[in-house]
Amino acid sequence: MEFKDYYKTLGVDRGVNDQGIKAAYRKLARKYHPDMNPGNKKAEERFKEINEANEVLGDPEKRKKYDQLGSNWEEILRNKEYARQYTRPDFEWQGGESFDPEDFFEAFFGGRSSPKRERRGADIEGEIRLTLEELYGRTKKSLGLNVSGVCQYCNGRGTTSSSSICRGCSGTGRVSRRKDIDVTIPKGLKEGSKIRLAGMGEEGRGKKGDLYLTVRLQPHKCFTPEGYDIYCNLPVLDYEAQLGTDILVPALNGKVKLKISPETQSGSLLRLKGKGLPGSDGEKDGDLYFRIQIMIPKGLSEKEKELIKEFRSLREGREEDIRGSLF
Ligand SMILES: [Zn+2]
Repeated sequence: MEFKDYYKTLGVDRGVNDQGIKAAYRKLARKYHPDMNPGNKKAEERFKEINEANEVLGDPEKRKKYDQLGSNWEEILRNKEYARQYTRPDFEWQGGESFDPEDFFEAFFGGRSSPKRERRGADIEGEIRLTLEELYGRTKKSLGLNVSGVCQYCNGRGTTSSSSICRGCSGTGRVSRRKDIDVTIPKGLKEGSKIRLAGMGEEGRGKKGDLYLTVRLQPHKCFTPEGYDIYCNLPVLDYEAQLGTDILVPALNGKVKLKISPETQSGSLLRLKGKGLPGSDGEKDGDLYFRIQIMIPKGLSEKEKELIKEFRSLREGREEDIRGSLF
């Protein structure tokens, strides 16, 4: 919950008199009236704020209370004793729980003449574990979640009509329910991304909160993601690297051919452009990188050994100083 500076909303000084408030309110209300701004959501929101500010500052009793509240409002809410004096009589004390910003008015000034606002359910956070292939293919994923909501037996009061503790929620007013949802994986996700599912959060009185799912990628047998890019260690035989060849490599959409140029060195990075994870709108797709790892064949035959010895003798006098940089 945030403190609402109603003086700021009306654009007036704290010392303004009643006439000044009335004048400022009339001027702004005319300007932002929905009839004057059809279809303008911002103006509508502003109009509501102006009315809320006027309901408090335009009423001498409420204004006095509001001025006393001042910057101590948070302290007052934290302190139950104060809270009883300042908040409306039937205000539900829920210290520690976060309030919706919209509740500021409701908490301190009670019922409103304008239609009563409903309290939105809290947002909830969860994790969604995905394989790289699921992320790439943007498949649908079914998840089971525990979502808390208002107890239906007691309507969140915690007690029944005979004042005994509600058995549905043991008096807490809230119950946890298992909820199965289907998530359509959007484009542009990577490890740590958040998916927002509007209206899938906790139930409040009226509007539901949102559900935020953090993407956790499951380890892959050969791919390591880094943002949208993917890295893969690629073993290549010495003579393949020496002479160059085309080899089949894995990609997220199946196998693809990768060209190994002659004399490719161990540790070289070969890139398949755009074969990484799909970027979000405005961001480019990731690349798929192969890090060359040169392997030597095992189990050489006598003939092969002879040939390698012959190769060595052919290189005599032309050896490269490959360890020169170490000294
Ligand atoms: Zn209950």
